[in-house]
Amino acid sequence: MIEISGVHKSFGDVAVLKGIDLFAEAGSVTVILGPSGSGKSTLLRCVNHLEKVDRGLIRIDGELIGYRQAGNRLHELSERQVLRQRARIGFVFQNFNLFPHRTALQNVAEAQIWALGKSPSAAYEKAHELLYAVGLWDRAGAYPRQLSGGQQQRVAIARALALEPKLILFDEPTSALDPELVGEVLDVLRDLAAGGTTMIVVTHEIGFAREAADTVVFMDEGRIVEQGTPAAVLDDPQHERSRAFLSKVL
Ligand code: ATP
Ligand code: MG
Repeated sequence: MIEISGVHKSFGDVAVLKGIDLFAEAGSVTVILGPSGSGKSTLLRCVNHLEKVDRGLIRIDGELIGYRQAGNRLHELSERQVLRQRARIGFVFQNFNLFPHRTALQNVAEAQIWALGKSPSAAYEKAHELLYAVGLWDRAGAYPRQLSGGQQQRVAIARALALEPKLILFDEPTSALDPELVGEVLDVLRDLAAGGTTMIVVTHEIGFAREAADTVVFMDEGRIVEQGTPAAVLDDPQHERSRAFLSKVL
């Protein structure tokens, strides 16, 4: 379970997150919508401690992210401890971020060796399985530049899954793709959702939100303006900002 409570974050004197509270059950899919600059990426980055929150707490399966609690006091975790936590939180970006000089198979296998300490044979076996799961068993030996954007993104998803994360964060995973390649990546996300992977997905793909989300969250200017089931938020938004936004993207 993911618990985000009272999270505030500013950059300089610009308040970007102004008190975010969000809970998600294990196995659930949360889709975050909202206009550009509303703080969606910053929130995801806080969840895996790529950004430090100014105020508030984030827990994953009860474990505090970035801090250790001793009595009433919070102590920052060491960089090594943060890296260990982050290794269990998958992050899939808009721009794939694969290692260019590694094949698809190596991209998926190698992180398991250095982050989880797996043996190469176990890591490569798992990598083959995962490439199969995302429909790329026949492209295992290809380098990223030899793959389409949709294929690269599917490799990136396989790589995130390889670390057996408790949670995967997706930041606009299809927004850099040509329209005809969006579907193949959303299909993989739908499979993950159906398989019980806990996910938080920032996306403007309303169809995906409608079918796959348990909860849809609408953010505006650093706040959650609306959250609920897809039907409630998408079909019957209560706030003017979400109505205006949805009337543009629907
Ligand atoms: P988009 O839909 O365009 O991706 P977003 O909702 O993901 O937008 P964020 O990227 O979280 O928005 O940015 C929220 C605000 O915080 C923006 O005004 C942005 O300029 C600012 N911001 C984000 N990161 C930083 C940073 N490292 N330093 C300063 N300002 C930042
Ligand atoms: Mg963003």
